[in-house]
Amino acid sequence: MSQIDRHETADVVIAGGRCAGSATAIAFARAGRAVIAVDRATFPSDTLSTHVNFPSGVAELQAVGALDRVLAYDPPRCTYGMLEADGVRCLERFATIDGIDYGICLPRPQLDMALVETAREAGAEIRERTSLEEVLWAGGRVAGVVVKERDGTRVQIDCKLLVGADGRRSTVARLVGAERPYRGSRNERGCAFFYMDDPQVGTAWRERLIQLRSGTTHALIFPCPDDRVLCLFMGPAEDIPRFRRDPEGMWQAMLEANPAVRERLAGATNFTKLRSTGDNVAYFRRSSGPGWALAGDAGHFKDPIIGQGIRDAVRFGRLLGEACAPVLDDARDVDQTTAAVEARRDKECLPSYHWGNRESRAFGVSPILLEALADLEGRDLMLQMFDRIQTPHRVLNPLRGGKYAGRALLRKGVDRRAILKEALQELRIDRDIWREELRPSFRSSRPTASERTDFQWPPRTPGVAKAEPHADEADGIVPTAGAEPAPTPVAAG
Ligand SMILES: Cc1cc2nc3c(=O)[nH]c(=O)nc-3n(C[C@H](O)[C@H](O)[C@H](O)COP(=O)(O)OP(=O)(O)OC[C@H]3O[C@@H](n4cnc5c(N)ncnc54)[C@H](O)[C@@H]3O)c2cc1C
Repeated sequence: MSQIDRHETADVVIAGGRCAGSATAIAFARAGRAVIAVDRATFPSDTLSTHVNFPSGVAELQAVGALDRVLAYDPPRCTYGMLEADGVRCLERFATIDGIDYGICLPRPQLDMALVETAREAGAEIRERTSLEEVLWAGGRVAGVVVKERDGTRVQIDCKLLVGADGRRSTVARLVGAERPYRGSRNERGCAFFYMDDPQVGTAWRERLIQLRSGTTHALIFPCPDDRVLCLFMGPAEDIPRFRRDPEGMWQAMLEANPAVRERLAGATNFTKLRSTGDNVAYFRRSSGPGWALAGDAGHFKDPIIGQGIRDAVRFGRLLGEACAPVLDDARDVDQTTAAVEARRDKECLPSYHWGNRESRAFGVSPILLEALADLEGRDLMLQMFDRIQTPHRVLNPLRGGKYAGRALLRKGVDRRAILKEALQELRIDRDIWREELRPSFRSSRPTASERTDFQWPPRTPGVAKAEPHADEADGIVPTAGAEPAPTPVAAG
């Protein structure tokens, strides 16, 4: 161990202070535990993430007591969700979850700030510009950490539990030997997004979280505060280098390919620079061990296309804190409890993980999807998947899948071989998901049909030679204006 300038103690040390870190800190602090959370970043600051929360995500913000602060930023309350593909539309009103019947899209600087302030109010200490650098062991357990402050001061903090809530490139995961996921799936889709002034202020579009599909690229459009709107394209990950080389050209190409996006955003102005990533590998890491646990993305990540990461980071951070706070003084109990929370997280998150893997395939719009959308319209089923009321493999179960495939096969001019191939592939995935649910096995690394196990670790964007600089590696700060030309306004029509 290198030189130490100061020595402290706490019940719990948390690396990372955003969604998972703040939620964990809030739960421990509310139970009267001494919590120190350190983050390299300063708050408020941005991080590479879009930030839609469906009602179940908003309900988690409420459960940690951050909702009033979140709503003080006045994000549009979106009471409808919509998925449209090639003109076939399924529009639904969100169900009410714990009194919340709306989704929101509050940018990360404000969202994370609301969480940080809530944690501070609960009594947690959140130290900014402070990095976790070393983990200290005693008798085979984590017994403390060394953190480095902004001015280089090195502080040893002894603790009963260390929580790594430090994101996908987790230092804690690396230092406890859990860095390489034991299961994961290569993403086929990348993310490229801009913010802009919303040309639809005052219309019903401001109450809708929408996904517009055409060809192989999905466009996700979410109203933000201050009359802004976020437009995220999720197409083949190989497109990301093209987006970076020519953001304006790609924006125009996306509009040409998807008339529904053109219509929604016609006349948009005042664009930010492009933000993008192609490395969205989904995974599970070993997330508990002697004296340590991982929360949020540090332990598990699923494709952002389904917009569940923030909800799960907040929820399982809170549950970790609530479950461990009462048993923190008994090492055996604490280790059993962190393992139990990991098992619960996995049970609850596996269906969404598989769903994310499915949705991350760079498939084009298929006749089966069009039949599904037409059938689901008006039945209040689709948004149940986004809200975790019902698992995706129950909503889109093999019976419904068979019905949609059958209807698609009856259409004139369709490629029947392609339909049968797709139906068979979906059936294989369903078989594996149901099998895993019926015969659960803790930390199973048995590959399933939803997973593309040829993922690279560490992940990287296809066509980009080096692992791209990550928000985490830049103190969580993503520039909001910069070198890339902003797209020109969309021509009306
Ligand atoms: C492109 C993209 C789009 C997404 N869109 C959505 C969406 O629309 N909706 C949704 O719900 N989810 C979305 N997600 C997922 C969501 O961003 C994450 O699930 C969520 O941010 C997880 O929160 P976290 O607290 O675990 O990690 P993070 O938000 O990554 O926070 C980790 C923190 O740890 C700090 N840290 C790292 N290392 C150290 C260290 N050694 N010492 C101290 N601090 C450290 C970092 O500075 C950072 O502040 C998206 C993800 C991506 C990549």
